[in-house]
Amino acid sequence: GREWRLLSRPVGWPKPEDFELAEAEIRQPGPGQVLVRNAYVSVDPYMRGRMSAAKSYVAPFELGKALQGGAVGEVVASAAEGIAVGDHVLHFGGWREYATFDAAQAVKVDPEAAPLSTYLGVLGMTGLTAYAGLLRTGAFKEGDAVFVSGAAGAVGSQVGQIARLKGASRVIGSAGSDDKVKLLVEEYGFDAAFNYKNGPVAEQLRAAAPDGVDVYFDNVGGDHLEAAIGSLNERGRIVICGMISVYNNTEAAPGPKNLARLIQTRGRIEGFLVGDHYDLQPEFVREVGGWIRSGELKYRETVVEGIENNLEAFLGVLRGDNTGKMIVKL
Ligand code: NDP
Repeated sequence: GREWRLLSRPVGWPKPEDFELAEAEIRQPGPGQVLVRNAYVSVDPYMRGRMSAAKSYVAPFELGKALQGGAVGEVVASAAEGIAVGDHVLHFGGWREYATFDAAQAVKVDPEAAPLSTYLGVLGMTGLTAYAGLLRTGAFKEGDAVFVSGAAGAVGSQVGQIARLKGASRVIGSAGSDDKVKLLVEEYGFDAAFNYKNGPVAEQLRAAAPDGVDVYFDNVGGDHLEAAIGSLNERGRIVICGMISVYNNTEAAPGPKNLARLIQTRGRIEGFLVGDHYDLQPEFVREVGGWIRSGELKYRETVVEGIENNLEAFLGVLRGDNTGKMIVKL
């Protein structure tokens, strides 16, 4: 089976030369292991961080070895109790066609209950990020005005809709194209949205949120964060979920210049990491699964076909080619 390997650590935007698509041996499962043929592979912005050597909450990818990431696939050989050939599992051996690993690292998923790809997106890691980030870290409460950046992406589109369904007074989103902005308002029920490429974020946010913002869910950083601090209401909360505008920077980006405003507003900024919140998984699946079935929460996926396009799909997420979760179908 083919797998993507990291050859060198990218400086700035990742280049094709930093990677190779190589043929790897398909390893039969040892005791307690399963062999899985991947059906859907996830590409996520955080993977850019693991391509660098810097210490973080997960170890860097190893040079010369296969990249990793979320994937769902079908078990084609099993030497593990409780997992049979034909079962489908969610696991971490992405960026490859076949993966062999300990069954303890896999979670069984039901392709009858929901399309397989959704376990990587709307019912998976990005969905839980939206749910836990907004409701727990953002301490969202009914009547709050919520602003989310990256609003047409996997996490952002769900943050905005959960806020709406939970009784936000106003939901505002920003995204990088006029088509995405239209989708937010017309299909996802945002009250206002703007294209951050059409003018200064601070000005556009003030116009879209004339009464200010109680919760800002940050996927982007930079100008967006500074603008949100500028529009923050008293006791406002800012959830730092992602900073995609700086992931390919070679030098540290300047911080917001208006942090002193947090004194005036008694505002709070808090970092968020989805791995801390898996205890909310059952509640998240129950509530969001219900909204999906009733049609109250909508989602899109951008599906790229073929393992050979895995790298392009990843670069596409960093560029904004995707609407909703970016997924590779093998
Ligand atoms: P998305 O589906 O939102 O895809 C990324 C989007 O970012 C692109 O579609 C693009 O949309 C936007 N983008 C790219 N560059 C810029 C830029 N310079 N300025 C503004 N927007 C930009 O990805 P995810 O939903 O998977 O992730 C969203 C964020 O959440 C990321 O920052 C990610 O790192 C973070 N995250 C954090 C987690 C945590 O535990 N802390 C867990 C999961 C995700 P556009 O066309 O609008 O520019």
